[in-house]
Amino acid sequence: MTELAPLPYGRQSIDDDDVAAVVAALKGDFLTQGAGVAKFEEALCRATNAKYAVAVSSGTAALHLAYLAAGMRPGDVGLTSDVTFVASANGMRYAGAEPVLVDVEPDTGLIALDALERRFEALGEAGRRPKVITPVDLTGAVADLPSIHAFAKKSGAVVVEDAAHSLGAEYTHGGQVYRAASCVHADMACLSFHPVKHVTTAEGGAIMTSDQGLYEELLDLRTHGITKDPARLEANDGPWYYEQRILGFNYRIPDLNCALGTSQMAKLERFVARRRAIAKRYDTLFEGESARVTPLRIRDGVKSSYHLYVIRLVPRQGESLASVAERRKALYLALREVKIFTQVHYIPVHRQPDFVRAGLAGGEFPGSDTYYAGCLSIPMFPSMTDADVERVAAAVLANA
Ligand SMILES: *Cc1c(COP(=O)(O)O)cnc(C)c1O
Repeated sequence: MTELAPLPYGRQSIDDDDVAAVVAALKGDFLTQGAGVAKFEEALCRATNAKYAVAVSSGTAALHLAYLAAGMRPGDVGLTSDVTFVASANGMRYAGAEPVLVDVEPDTGLIALDALERRFEALGEAGRRPKVITPVDLTGAVADLPSIHAFAKKSGAVVVEDAAHSLGAEYTHGGQVYRAASCVHADMACLSFHPVKHVTTAEGGAIMTSDQGLYEELLDLRTHGITKDPARLEANDGPWYYEQRILGFNYRIPDLNCALGTSQMAKLERFVARRRAIAKRYDTLFEGESARVTPLRIRDGVKSSYHLYVIRLVPRQGESLASVAERRKALYLALREVKIFTQVHYIPVHRQPDFVRAGLAGGEFPGSDTYYAGCLSIPMFPSMTDADVERVAAAVLANA
């Protein structure tokens, strides 16, 4: 028997032209802060339809700066999904604010609107008005941004879309098609270019916005709060002059990484098309098998860009969540035996010991507990072959 190739849940696709682009940048005049950053930012604007992009050193840095630009300060609160990577909430803590976690819908893993409204009202009764709402486009399936945006605008909250999973995704609203991170139904959107995401810069991220004021604030925050813009200086001692207006950071992304990013962006459409084809094949292979596995529900009108493909084990009649979680663990281990390396996205943030100790884990999360017990991300990346997809589906069905 031939050796089985290991299949991770996700992986980057790097071709010779990506390597050549990085080598060319290495031989150029600027390793950082050259023209490569702006070129990458232009590619991001073209792909999302947002007006401005600020590329930074990671998706986490993007979230931190978005929260600061939104005006988050110590004592403020923000709302985000309980089922996400911890960075969505940690960025608020870096700003000195308090993330309040919101329960999710068990079948989509997306922030639940009724739970969001309940959290909002409870905070209001305590005299606190959330500064920011951060919906997460889990797996590449865009959250209900139009509803969340309309809700936020009534109360003056800033919407920061965590679009780390959804570059290339689309949603419809009122018969119109919009792109994830287009910032039509969000004030800012944060992207990540970690290797498992749609396109990579190794480490990297970006904030998208169509608001010029936020854009200028983000540019300053990326580099120590320093500006050289003559129009915004309080004094001007000469052509060398700059001022630190506010306290910012060094969250710059090097030209080297942006060269890789720009090369990767040229393939985004192809990558997303392949991810959708793989998802369609999985959907077909799992059809009629709902007693064993149920693919994550994608909301009507959403075209996911499938950063992840999540299957769910759903509680059987009278089955406890602990028992579902046992079945999921057994499936994870059985797949690992045949070199299919799955992952769980995500452990709900309210279960993280640091959030519990910081007093940030209060409330009931029936939706995220149900989602977490049965979710499993199976391999999904553009270079998977059709035979790989069939092998994974067959192994899942044989063991679920
Ligand atoms: C990857 C990711 C981030 C953070 O990105 P980094 O680039 O790893 O800092 C934030 N939110 C979500 C949902 C992510 O998946």
